[in-house]
Amino acid sequence: MKAAGTTQSGIIFDIQRAALHDGPGLRTTVFLKGCPLRCSWCHNPESQSVSPQTGRSGKQYGAPMTVAEVMRVVLADRSFYTSSGGGVTLSGGEPTVQFDFCKALLQAARLAKIPTCLDTCGHCPPERLLELLPLVDLFHFDWKLSGSPEHRKWTGVDGDRIRENLDLLIEHGARIILRCPLIHGVNDDPSHSAVIDRWASHPGIESVERLPYHCSGLAKAEDLGLRALQF
Ligand code: SF4
Repeated sequence: MKAAGTTQSGIIFDIQRAALHDGPGLRTTVFLKGCPLRCSWCHNPESQSVSPQTGRSGKQYGAPMTVAEVMRVVLADRSFYTSSGGGVTLSGGEPTVQFDFCKALLQAARLAKIPTCLDTCGHCPPERLLELLPLVDLFHFDWKLSGSPEHRKWTGVDGDRIRENLDLLIEHGARIILRCPLIHGVNDDPSHSAVIDRWASHPGIESVERLPYHCSGLAKAEDLGLRALQF
C-alpha cells in the first residue's frame, strides 16, 4: 500500500541514523528547515531559514527531498527500531513550519508502523499540533525560558503561545518529554529551575530533560553570516 503524499517534498538539512538522544531506542532523526525562533544560542542555525542555503565556505545547507526518499532512509533501519524500541524523530528547526511535508512524513511512518517522535519548540498555530496529535507517539517539547519578556529577549518570540500549546497537548493526553536547554547567563537562575522542577512533577509530563549548552552552532552561524553568541 502506498502512503498518500509520498511525492510531497520538503527541505531537509540532515538525516542522522542510529541517533541515541532523540527519543527512545535507536532512531533516525530527520531535520527539517524552517524555524520561527531565533535563539541566541542556536545549535542548528542552518535550520532557521526554510530555504536551502550556501555558506561562505561553499557548503550547502538543505536540499529538497520527497517523503518517499526520506522514508527509504528511515525504513533501512526498521529492524533496529524493532529491537531497541526506537523509531523516527522529526526535528529541525521547527518541523511544523513545513506543515504539509511534516504531516505527510508522519502519515508515511504511521502507515509503515514506525513509532514517531516530534521535536517542537512549541511556537506554532495550535490547530497544527492538534492535527498532528494522532500521528505522534511522543512529543519532545522545548521549555527554554519561563518568563515572556525573557523569552522574547533571547528567542525573538514571547512564550505565551508556547505555554498555551503545552497546556493544549497535556489536555489532549499527549505523551510529552519536556526538554530544557540550560544556558549560562540566560536561564540558569533559581526561578527558572523551580519552574522546571514543577513541570517535572506535573502528571501530564512524562519526564524532564535538562540539556547542556554546546557551541556546535557557532561555526555554522559564521559560515552563514549569522550573528552568533558564545555562552
Ligand atoms: S528553536 Fe531550536 S532551531 Fe529554532 S532558533 Fe531555537 S535553538 Fe535554533
